[in-house]
Amino acid sequence: MSDSAPAAPRLVHRTAHIRLRLTRRQATRCYGLLRSAGDVWAWLLDTNRLRRQQGERPGIGYQALCRELTRMGSFGELSVAGARSVLKRYSGAWFQAAKRRNQQQDAGFPRRKRGLVPVRFYNGTFRLQGDRVRLPVARGQPELWVRLARPLPYPAEQVRAVTLLADGGRLWLAVTAAIPVQHHDLDPGGVAGVDLGIIHPYAVVTQQAGLLVSGRAIRAESYLHRNDQQARYARAARRAPKPGQRGSRRWRRHRARVRRAEARHRRRVHQAQHQAAKQLIAFAVQQRVGTLLVGDPTGITEKDAGRVQNWRLRQWRRTHLLQALRDKAELAGIAVRLVDERSTSSTCPACHRRIPKPKGRRFFCPHCKFLGHRDLVGARNIAAKAGGGPTSTHLPVLVEHRRAGRTPARRDRRRHLHDQRRRRSCLASGHPRNADASRGCRSPDAGTPPAPGEDQAALPNKARFA
Ligand SMILES: [Zn+2]
Repeated sequence: MSDSAPAAPRLVHRTAHIRLRLTRRQATRCYGLLRSAGDVWAWLLDTNRLRRQQGERPGIGYQALCRELTRMGSFGELSVAGARSVLKRYSGAWFQAAKRRNQQQDAGFPRRKRGLVPVRFYNGTFRLQGDRVRLPVARGQPELWVRLARPLPYPAEQVRAVTLLADGGRLWLAVTAAIPVQHHDLDPGGVAGVDLGIIHPYAVVTQQAGLLVSGRAIRAESYLHRNDQQARYARAARRAPKPGQRGSRRWRRHRARVRRAEARHRRRVHQAQHQAAKQLIAFAVQQRVGTLLVGDPTGITEKDAGRVQNWRLRQWRRTHLLQALRDKAELAGIAVRLVDERSTSSTCPACHRRIPKPKGRRFFCPHCKFLGHRDLVGARNIAAKAGGGPTSTHLPVLVEHRRAGRTPARRDRRRHLHDQRRRRSCLASGHPRNADASRGCRSPDAGTPPAPGEDQAALPNKARFA
Protein backbone atom coordinates (compact mmCIF):
# COMPACT_ATOMS: atom_id res chain seq x y z
CA MET A 1 0.00 0.00 0.00
CA SER A 2 2.95 2.31 0.55
CA ASP A 3 4.61 1.33 -2.75
CA SER A 4 3.05 4.28 -4.55
CA ALA A 5 4.99 6.76 -2.39
CA PRO A 6 8.67 5.82 -2.43
CA ALA A 7 9.65 8.23 0.34
CA ALA A 8 7.08 6.94 2.82
CA PRO A 9 8.17 4.10 5.11
CA ARG A 10 6.74 0.66 4.41
CA LEU A 11 3.73 -0.15 6.56
CA VAL A 12 2.68 -3.46 8.05
CA HIS A 13 -0.64 -4.22 9.69
CA ARG A 14 -0.68 -5.60 13.21
CA THR A 15 -3.64 -6.56 15.39
CA ALA A 16 -3.89 -6.60 19.17
CA HIS A 17 -6.77 -8.25 21.03
CA ILE A 18 -7.88 -6.10 23.92
CA ARG A 19 -10.43 -7.23 26.43
CA LEU A 20 -13.41 -4.98 27.05
CA ARG A 21 -14.47 -3.76 30.46
CA LEU A 22 -18.22 -3.33 30.25
CA THR A 23 -21.28 -2.68 32.29
CA ARG A 24 -23.98 -5.30 32.01
CA ARG A 25 -26.00 -3.10 29.71
CA GLN A 26 -23.05 -2.40 27.43
CA ALA A 27 -22.25 -6.13 27.28
CA THR A 28 -25.84 -6.92 26.37
CA ARG A 29 -25.74 -4.38 23.56
CA CYS A 30 -22.39 -5.70 22.29
CA TYR A 31 -23.73 -9.25 22.22
CA GLY A 32 -26.78 -7.87 20.44
CA LEU A 33 -24.50 -6.46 17.73
CA LEU A 34 -22.71 -9.82 17.33
CA ARG A 35 -26.04 -11.66 17.20
CA SER A 36 -27.38 -9.24 14.59
CA ALA A 37 -24.22 -9.86 12.58
CA GLY A 38 -25.01 -13.58 12.91
CA ASP A 39 -28.46 -12.81 11.50
CA VAL A 40 -26.91 -11.03 8.52
CA TRP A 41 -24.65 -14.03 7.98
CA ALA A 42 -27.59 -16.45 8.15
CA TRP A 43 -29.61 -14.24 5.75
CA LEU A 44 -26.71 -14.36 3.25
CA LEU A 45 -26.45 -18.15 3.49
CA ASP A 46 -30.22 -18.61 3.17
CA THR A 47 -30.69 -16.33 0.15
CA ASN A 48 -27.80 -17.91 -1.68
CA ARG A 49 -28.99 -21.44 -0.92
CA LEU A 50 -32.42 -20.52 -2.26
CA ARG A 51 -30.84 -19.15 -5.42
CA ARG A 52 -28.79 -22.27 -5.95
CA GLN A 53 -31.92 -24.40 -5.57
CA GLN A 54 -33.70 -22.28 -8.21
CA GLY A 55 -30.73 -22.59 -10.55
CA GLU A 56 -29.68 -18.96 -10.28
CA ARG A 57 -26.23 -17.58 -9.69
CA PRO A 58 -25.54 -16.84 -6.02
CA GLY A 59 -24.81 -13.24 -5.03
CA ILE A 60 -21.19 -12.96 -3.99
CA GLY A 61 -19.72 -9.60 -4.98
CA TYR A 62 -19.50 -7.05 -2.21
CA GLN A 63 -21.21 -4.27 -4.18
CA ALA A 64 -24.13 -6.47 -5.20
CA LEU A 65 -24.56 -7.68 -1.63
CA CYS A 66 -24.56 -4.08 -0.39
CA ARG A 67 -27.42 -3.24 -2.76
CA GLU A 68 -29.39 -6.23 -1.51
CA LEU A 69 -28.73 -5.21 2.08
CA THR A 70 -30.21 -1.79 1.37
CA ARG A 71 -33.40 -3.46 0.12
CA MET A 72 -33.44 -5.82 3.10
CA GLY A 73 -33.44 -3.08 5.75
CA SER A 74 -31.78 -3.05 9.15
CA PHE A 75 -30.70 -5.83 11.51
CA GLY A 76 -31.32 -4.87 15.11
CA GLU A 77 -28.91 -2.28 16.47
CA LEU A 78 -26.30 -3.08 13.85
CA SER A 79 -25.24 -0.04 11.83
CA VAL A 80 -24.97 -0.17 8.04
CA ALA A 81 -21.17 -0.05 8.36
CA GLY A 82 -21.25 -3.01 10.70
CA ALA A 83 -23.61 -5.04 8.50
CA ARG A 84 -21.44 -4.30 5.47
CA SER A 85 -18.41 -5.69 7.28
CA VAL A 86 -20.26 -9.02 7.51
CA LEU A 87 -20.92 -8.85 3.74
CA LYS A 88 -17.24 -8.23 3.22
CA ARG A 89 -16.36 -11.19 5.43
CA TYR A 90 -18.73 -13.45 3.48
CA SER A 91 -17.55 -12.22 0.11
CA GLY A 92 -13.91 -12.57 1.14
CA ALA A 93 -14.42 -16.09 2.48
CA TRP A 94 -16.23 -17.11 -0.71
CA PHE A 95 -13.53 -15.85 -3.07
CA GLN A 96 -10.81 -17.30 -0.88
CA ALA A 97 -12.45 -20.72 -1.09
CA ALA A 98 -12.95 -20.40 -4.85
CA LYS A 99 -9.30 -19.47 -5.30
CA ARG A 100 -8.11 -22.42 -3.26
CA ARG A 101 -10.38 -24.77 -5.19
CA ASN A 102 -8.94 -23.49 -8.45
CA GLN A 103 -5.53 -24.47 -7.13
CA GLN A 104 -6.86 -28.00 -6.46
CA GLN A 105 -6.77 -27.40 -2.71
CA ASP A 106 -9.38 -28.53 -0.24
CA ALA A 107 -11.63 -25.61 0.72
CA GLY A 108 -15.25 -25.18 1.68
CA PHE A 109 -17.53 -22.28 0.80
CA PRO A 110 -19.16 -20.59 3.80
CA ARG A 111 -22.15 -22.79 4.71
CA ARG A 112 -22.40 -22.85 8.47
CA LYS A 113 -24.61 -20.49 10.43
CA ARG A 114 -23.15 -19.01 13.57
CA GLY A 115 -24.86 -17.33 16.47
CA LEU A 116 -22.24 -14.64 16.99
CA VAL A 117 -20.30 -13.19 14.07
CA PRO A 118 -17.51 -10.62 14.59
CA VAL A 119 -18.26 -7.07 13.44
CA ARG A 120 -15.53 -4.92 11.98
CA PHE A 121 -15.60 -1.13 11.92
CA TYR A 122 -13.25 0.73 9.62
CA ASN A 123 -11.54 4.03 10.21
CA GLY A 124 -13.93 6.95 10.44
CA THR A 125 -16.91 4.95 11.70
CA PHE A 126 -15.68 4.59 15.29
CA ARG A 127 -14.10 7.05 17.69
CA LEU A 128 -11.14 6.53 20.03
CA GLN A 129 -10.92 8.63 23.17
CA GLY A 130 -8.30 7.52 25.66
CA ASP A 131 -9.25 4.03 26.76
CA ARG A 132 -12.83 4.46 25.51
CA VAL A 133 -14.15 3.60 22.07
CA ARG A 134 -17.45 4.62 20.54
CA LEU A 135 -18.80 1.89 18.28
CA PRO A 136 -21.29 2.83 15.57
CA VAL A 137 -24.87 1.63 15.99
CA ALA A 138 -27.96 1.92 13.84
CA ARG A 139 -29.42 5.40 13.40
CA GLY A 140 -31.72 6.49 16.20
CA GLN A 141 -30.07 4.26 18.83
CA PRO A 142 -28.23 5.72 21.85
CA GLU A 143 -24.43 5.97 21.60
CA LEU A 144 -22.47 2.84 22.51
CA TRP A 145 -19.21 3.47 24.34
CA VAL A 146 -16.99 0.61 25.48
CA ARG A 147 -13.93 0.69 27.74
CA LEU A 148 -10.63 -1.09 26.96
CA ALA A 149 -9.17 -3.16 29.80
CA ARG A 150 -5.61 -2.16 28.87
CA PRO A 151 -4.12 0.83 27.09
CA LEU A 152 -3.97 0.83 23.32
CA PRO A 153 -0.56 -0.59 22.25
CA TYR A 154 -0.47 1.64 19.15
CA PRO A 155 -0.71 5.40 18.67
CA ALA A 156 -4.36 6.28 18.07
CA GLU A 157 -3.66 7.85 14.66
CA GLN A 158 -2.23 4.55 13.37
CA VAL A 159 -5.39 2.56 14.14
CA ARG A 160 -7.18 1.51 10.94
CA ALA A 161 -9.99 -0.76 12.14
CA VAL A 162 -11.50 -2.31 15.24
CA THR A 163 -13.32 -5.64 15.37
CA LEU A 164 -15.80 -6.56 18.07
CA LEU A 165 -15.73 -10.29 18.82
CA ALA A 166 -16.55 -12.87 21.48
CA ASP A 167 -14.02 -15.54 22.40
CA GLY A 168 -14.09 -17.92 25.32
CA GLY A 169 -17.15 -16.27 26.86
CA ARG A 170 -15.64 -12.79 26.83
CA LEU A 171 -15.92 -9.74 24.63
CA TRP A 172 -12.83 -8.42 22.88
CA LEU A 173 -11.88 -5.61 20.60
CA ALA A 174 -9.27 -6.55 17.98
CA VAL A 175 -7.49 -3.30 17.12
CA THR A 176 -5.67 -3.24 13.79
CA ALA A 177 -3.02 -0.60 13.18
CA ALA A 178 -0.73 0.26 10.28
CA ILE A 179 2.79 0.47 11.69
CA PRO A 180 5.86 1.69 9.81
CA VAL A 181 8.69 -0.84 9.52
CA GLN A 182 11.46 0.06 11.95
CA HIS A 183 14.92 0.91 10.74
CA HIS A 184 17.79 -0.76 12.53
CA ASP A 185 21.43 -0.72 11.61
CA LEU A 186 21.51 -4.29 10.26
CA ASP A 187 24.23 -6.07 8.37
CA PRO A 188 22.66 -7.53 5.18
CA GLY A 189 25.25 -10.32 5.21
CA GLY A 190 24.69 -11.08 8.88
CA VAL A 191 23.03 -14.47 9.09
CA ALA A 192 21.76 -16.42 12.08
CA GLY A 193 20.41 -19.95 12.25
CA VAL A 194 17.21 -20.53 14.25
CA ASP A 195 16.09 -23.91 15.55
CA LEU A 196 12.45 -24.11 16.65
CA GLY A 197 11.82 -26.52 19.47
CA ILE A 198 9.73 -27.55 22.44
CA ILE A 199 12.32 -27.37 25.21
CA HIS A 200 13.66 -24.15 23.74
CA PRO A 201 11.10 -22.42 21.50
CA TYR A 202 13.98 -20.63 19.82
CA ALA A 203 17.68 -21.46 19.72
CA VAL A 204 19.70 -18.93 17.73
CA VAL A 205 23.36 -18.94 16.68
CA THR A 206 25.44 -16.29 14.98
CA GLN A 207 29.19 -16.20 14.49
CA GLN A 208 29.80 -14.49 17.82
CA ALA A 209 26.89 -15.29 20.05
CA GLY A 210 24.02 -17.62 20.80
CA LEU A 211 20.60 -17.30 22.41
CA LEU A 212 18.49 -19.96 24.09
CA VAL A 213 14.92 -19.09 25.04
CA SER A 214 13.52 -21.44 27.66
CA GLY A 215 10.06 -22.88 27.08
CA ARG A 216 9.66 -24.33 30.55
CA ALA A 217 6.76 -22.07 31.48
CA ILE A 218 4.90 -23.05 28.30
CA ARG A 219 5.44 -26.75 29.01
CA ALA A 220 4.33 -26.41 32.61
CA GLU A 221 1.21 -24.62 31.45
CA SER A 222 0.49 -27.33 28.89
CA TYR A 223 0.81 -30.19 31.38
CA LEU A 224 -1.33 -28.48 34.00
CA HIS A 225 -3.95 -27.67 31.40
CA ARG A 226 -4.04 -31.22 30.08
CA ASN A 227 -4.45 -32.76 33.53
CA ASP A 228 -7.13 -30.22 34.34
CA GLN A 229 -9.11 -30.93 31.17
CA GLN A 230 -8.82 -34.69 31.63
CA ALA A 231 -10.21 -34.31 35.14
CA ARG A 232 -13.08 -32.21 33.84
CA TYR A 233 -14.02 -34.73 31.21
CA ALA A 234 -13.75 -37.68 33.58
CA ARG A 235 -16.11 -35.95 35.95
CA ALA A 236 -18.62 -34.73 33.39
CA ALA A 237 -18.63 -37.72 31.02
CA ARG A 238 -21.81 -39.23 32.43
CA ARG A 239 -23.73 -36.03 31.78
CA ALA A 240 -22.73 -36.03 28.15
CA PRO A 241 -25.81 -36.02 25.91
CA LYS A 242 -26.49 -38.83 23.46
CA PRO A 243 -26.05 -37.92 19.80
CA GLY A 244 -29.04 -35.81 18.80
CA GLN A 245 -29.94 -34.82 22.34
CA ARG A 246 -29.63 -31.27 23.50
CA GLY A 247 -27.81 -31.91 26.78
CA SER A 248 -28.69 -30.77 30.26
CA ARG A 249 -28.15 -27.27 31.54
CA ARG A 250 -25.30 -28.57 33.66
CA TRP A 251 -23.71 -30.10 30.61
CA ARG A 252 -23.93 -26.83 28.70
CA ARG A 253 -22.41 -24.97 31.61
CA HIS A 254 -19.63 -27.55 31.67
CA ARG A 255 -19.02 -27.01 27.95
CA ALA A 256 -18.85 -23.25 28.49
CA ARG A 257 -16.28 -23.74 31.26
CA VAL A 258 -14.21 -26.02 29.04
CA ARG A 259 -14.25 -23.45 26.27
CA ARG A 260 -13.21 -20.71 28.68
CA ALA A 261 -10.33 -22.83 30.00
CA GLU A 262 -9.19 -23.69 26.47
CA ALA A 263 -9.26 -20.03 25.46
CA ARG A 264 -7.29 -19.03 28.55
CA HIS A 265 -4.69 -21.73 27.89
CA ARG A 266 -4.37 -20.69 24.25
CA ARG A 267 -3.89 -17.06 25.26
CA ARG A 268 -1.17 -17.96 27.75
CA VAL A 269 0.79 -20.07 25.27
CA HIS A 270 0.46 -17.47 22.53
CA GLN A 271 1.53 -14.70 24.88
CA ALA A 272 4.63 -16.65 25.92
CA GLN A 273 5.51 -17.38 22.31
CA HIS A 274 5.18 -13.70 21.44
CA GLN A 275 7.53 -12.88 24.33
CA ALA A 276 10.03 -15.45 23.08
CA ALA A 277 9.89 -14.04 19.55
CA LYS A 278 10.38 -10.53 20.91
CA GLN A 279 13.51 -11.65 22.73
CA LEU A 280 14.84 -13.31 19.60
CA ILE A 281 14.30 -10.17 17.52
CA ALA A 282 15.96 -8.00 20.19
CA PHE A 283 18.94 -10.35 20.09
CA ALA A 284 19.04 -10.29 16.28
CA VAL A 285 18.93 -6.48 16.21
CA GLN A 286 21.68 -6.30 18.81
CA GLN A 287 23.81 -8.71 16.74
CA ARG A 288 22.92 -6.78 13.54
CA VAL A 289 21.52 -9.92 11.89
CA GLY A 290 19.92 -9.16 8.51
CA THR A 291 18.63 -12.66 7.70
CA LEU A 292 17.23 -15.40 9.91
CA LEU A 293 17.46 -18.94 8.54
CA VAL A 294 14.76 -20.97 10.26
CA GLY A 295 14.40 -24.75 10.32
CA ASP A 296 11.08 -25.60 8.66
CA PRO A 297 8.97 -27.72 11.04
CA THR A 298 6.34 -28.60 8.39
CA GLY A 299 5.32 -32.24 8.29
CA ILE A 300 6.81 -33.07 11.65
CA THR A 301 3.52 -34.55 12.88
CA GLU A 302 3.11 -36.82 9.89
CA LYS A 303 5.15 -39.69 11.21
CA ASP A 304 4.24 -41.55 14.38
CA ALA A 305 6.74 -40.67 17.10
CA GLY A 306 5.05 -42.52 19.96
CA ARG A 307 2.19 -41.50 22.18
CA VAL A 308 4.02 -38.98 24.36
CA GLN A 309 6.00 -37.32 21.61
CA ASN A 310 2.97 -37.13 19.32
CA TRP A 311 1.04 -35.31 22.03
CA ARG A 312 3.93 -32.94 22.70
CA LEU A 313 4.32 -32.15 19.02
CA ARG A 314 0.64 -31.31 18.70
CA GLN A 315 0.74 -29.14 21.81
CA TRP A 316 3.68 -27.22 20.46
CA ARG A 317 1.75 -24.70 18.28
CA ARG A 318 4.67 -24.43 15.92
CA THR A 319 2.66 -22.58 13.28
CA HIS A 320 2.00 -19.78 15.73
CA LEU A 321 5.61 -19.88 16.92
CA LEU A 322 6.84 -19.43 13.36
CA GLN A 323 4.25 -16.79 12.53
CA ALA A 324 5.10 -14.75 15.63
CA LEU A 325 8.74 -14.81 14.57
CA ARG A 326 7.90 -13.82 10.98
CA ASP A 327 5.63 -10.95 12.02
CA LYS A 328 8.14 -9.45 14.41
CA ALA A 329 11.04 -9.95 12.00
CA GLU A 330 9.10 -8.17 9.24
CA LEU A 331 8.41 -5.26 11.54
CA ALA A 332 12.12 -5.01 12.39
CA GLY A 333 13.17 -5.24 8.75
CA ILE A 334 14.79 -8.68 9.13
CA ALA A 335 14.37 -11.27 6.38
CA VAL A 336 13.24 -14.81 7.29
CA ARG A 337 14.02 -17.85 5.14
CA LEU A 338 12.86 -21.39 5.77
CA VAL A 339 15.41 -24.19 5.52
CA ASP A 340 14.83 -27.95 5.45
CA GLU A 341 15.78 -29.04 8.95
CA ARG A 342 16.17 -32.77 8.34
CA SER A 343 19.23 -34.33 10.01
CA THR A 344 20.35 -30.98 11.44
CA SER A 345 20.16 -32.24 15.00
CA SER A 346 22.11 -35.42 14.27
CA THR A 347 25.03 -34.12 12.21
CA CYS A 348 28.29 -33.12 13.84
CA PRO A 349 29.13 -29.50 12.97
CA ALA A 350 32.87 -30.19 13.28
CA CYS A 351 33.40 -33.38 11.27
CA HIS A 352 30.04 -33.43 9.39
CA ARG A 353 29.42 -37.09 10.20
CA ARG A 354 26.02 -38.44 11.26
CA ILE A 355 25.67 -39.43 14.88
CA PRO A 356 22.77 -41.16 16.65
CA LYS A 357 20.15 -38.61 17.64
CA PRO A 358 21.03 -37.29 21.10
CA LYS A 359 18.63 -38.12 23.92
CA GLY A 360 18.98 -35.05 26.11
CA ARG A 361 20.23 -31.57 25.30
CA ARG A 362 23.93 -32.59 25.24
CA PHE A 363 25.31 -33.13 21.78
CA PHE A 364 28.38 -35.36 21.77
CA CYS A 365 30.17 -36.62 18.66
CA PRO A 366 31.84 -40.02 19.19
CA HIS A 367 34.04 -39.51 16.13
CA CYS A 368 35.75 -36.23 16.91
CA LYS A 369 34.69 -35.75 20.55
CA PHE A 370 32.84 -32.51 19.75
CA LEU A 371 30.66 -31.44 22.65
CA GLY A 372 27.93 -28.82 22.52
CA HIS A 373 24.32 -27.86 23.13
CA ARG A 374 22.01 -29.85 20.93
CA ASP A 375 19.69 -26.96 19.97
CA LEU A 376 22.57 -24.60 19.23
CA VAL A 377 24.16 -27.33 17.08
CA GLY A 378 20.82 -27.66 15.28
CA ALA A 379 20.62 -23.92 14.70
CA ARG A 380 24.20 -23.87 13.46
CA ASN A 381 23.58 -26.75 11.04
CA ILE A 382 20.44 -25.03 9.75
CA ALA A 383 22.45 -21.91 8.98
CA ALA A 384 25.21 -23.99 7.35
CA LYS A 385 22.66 -25.82 5.17
CA ALA A 386 21.65 -22.57 3.53
CA GLY A 387 25.27 -21.63 3.04
CA GLY A 388 25.51 -19.04 5.77
CA GLY A 389 25.99 -18.54 9.44
CA PRO A 390 28.99 -19.28 11.62
CA THR A 391 32.03 -20.64 9.83
CA SER A 392 34.16 -21.72 12.77
CA THR A 393 33.76 -25.29 13.97
CA HIS A 394 33.20 -24.18 17.54
CA LEU A 395 29.97 -22.90 18.96
CA PRO A 396 30.02 -19.35 20.30
CA VAL A 397 31.19 -19.05 23.88
CA LEU A 398 28.75 -16.26 24.63
CA VAL A 399 25.30 -17.80 24.99
CA GLU A 400 22.43 -15.79 26.44
CA HIS A 401 19.61 -17.55 28.27
CA ARG A 402 16.14 -16.06 28.36
CA ARG A 403 12.76 -17.19 29.63
CA ALA A 404 9.41 -16.79 27.97
CA GLY A 405 6.04 -16.81 29.65
CA ARG A 406 5.15 -17.10 33.30
CA THR A 407 5.44 -20.38 35.18
CA PRO A 408 2.06 -21.32 36.68
CA ALA A 409 1.91 -19.96 40.20
CA ARG A 410 2.18 -22.22 43.23
CA ARG A 411 -1.33 -21.15 44.09
CA ASP A 412 -2.62 -22.08 40.64
CA ARG A 413 -5.90 -23.89 41.19
CA ARG A 414 -4.92 -26.59 38.74
CA ARG A 415 -1.97 -27.66 40.88
CA HIS A 416 -4.23 -28.94 43.63
CA LEU A 417 -6.23 -32.10 43.89
CA HIS A 418 -9.79 -32.83 44.75
CA ASP A 419 -10.54 -32.24 48.41
CA GLN A 420 -12.26 -35.40 49.64
CA ARG A 421 -13.69 -33.99 52.84
CA ARG A 422 -15.54 -31.08 51.37
CA ARG A 423 -16.46 -33.09 48.30
CA ARG A 424 -15.34 -30.13 46.35
CA SER A 425 -12.71 -30.03 43.77
CA CYS A 426 -9.91 -27.58 43.59
CA LEU A 427 -8.82 -29.24 40.37
CA ALA A 428 -11.14 -27.92 37.72
CA SER A 429 -14.68 -28.83 38.58
CA GLY A 430 -13.83 -32.41 39.13
CA HIS A 431 -11.01 -34.71 39.78
CA PRO A 432 -12.12 -38.38 39.82
CA ARG A 433 -13.79 -39.14 43.14
CA ASN A 434 -11.55 -42.03 44.10
CA ALA A 435 -8.46 -39.84 44.38
CA ASP A 436 -6.19 -40.79 47.24
CA ALA A 437 -7.50 -38.82 50.21
CA SER A 438 -4.42 -39.28 52.37
CA ARG A 439 -2.38 -37.13 50.06
CA GLY A 440 -4.22 -34.02 51.08
CA CYS A 441 -4.68 -31.21 48.67
CA ARG A 442 -1.31 -31.23 46.96
CA SER A 443 -1.13 -32.97 43.67
CA PRO A 444 1.70 -35.50 43.63
CA ASP A 445 2.59 -34.97 40.00
CA ALA A 446 1.24 -31.65 38.81
CA GLY A 447 2.84 -29.76 41.69
CA THR A 448 6.28 -31.32 41.46
CA PRO A 449 8.79 -28.79 40.24
CA PRO A 450 10.57 -29.94 37.08
CA ALA A 451 13.89 -31.69 37.43
CA PRO A 452 16.88 -29.39 37.92
CA GLY A 453 18.76 -28.45 34.82
CA GLU A 454 16.60 -27.13 32.01
CA ASP A 455 18.73 -29.01 29.54
CA GLN A 456 17.90 -32.42 30.93
CA ALA A 457 14.17 -31.95 31.46
CA ALA A 458 13.24 -33.36 28.11
CA LEU A 459 10.52 -35.87 28.84
CA PRO A 460 7.63 -35.63 31.26
CA ASN A 461 7.02 -38.28 33.86
CA LYS A 462 5.85 -41.34 31.98
CA ALA A 463 3.60 -42.44 34.81
CA ARG A 464 1.22 -39.60 34.11
CA PHE A 465 0.35 -41.01 30.73
CA ALA A 466 -0.40 -44.50 32.00
ZN1 LIG B 1 32.31 -34.91 14.94
